[in-house]
Amino acid sequence: MALLIADECIYCDVCEPVSPNKAIGAGALVFAIDPDRGTQCVGHFAQPQCRVVCPLACIPQDPNRRELREQRLAKSRRRAPADAKMQGGP
Ligand code: SF4
Repeated sequence: MALLIADECIYCDVCEPVSPNKAIGAGALVFAIDPDRGTQCVGHFAQPQCRVVCPLACIPQDPNRRELREQRLAKSRRRAPADAKMQGGP
């Protein structure tokens, strides 16, 4: 499953900079995870870094968005060239 940010979020901005895919951004009331970018950090870290740092543990699994690890890894690999270009890479 993918992750989502619950309404308990206090907008502290701790999770946004730790996302290797730049998947987290400020939403209207709480922070939000872009499902096209979120991969639970597969291929980067052993655990989703947002869940590691969130002081409220308010980043649960999204029961409405099921993704296998292989699907998340493929998404991460698809994004890598575009993200490298955005950061000035080849
Ligand atoms: Fe919200 Fe947790 Fe992210 Fe802070 S770390 S902005 S509480 S989801």
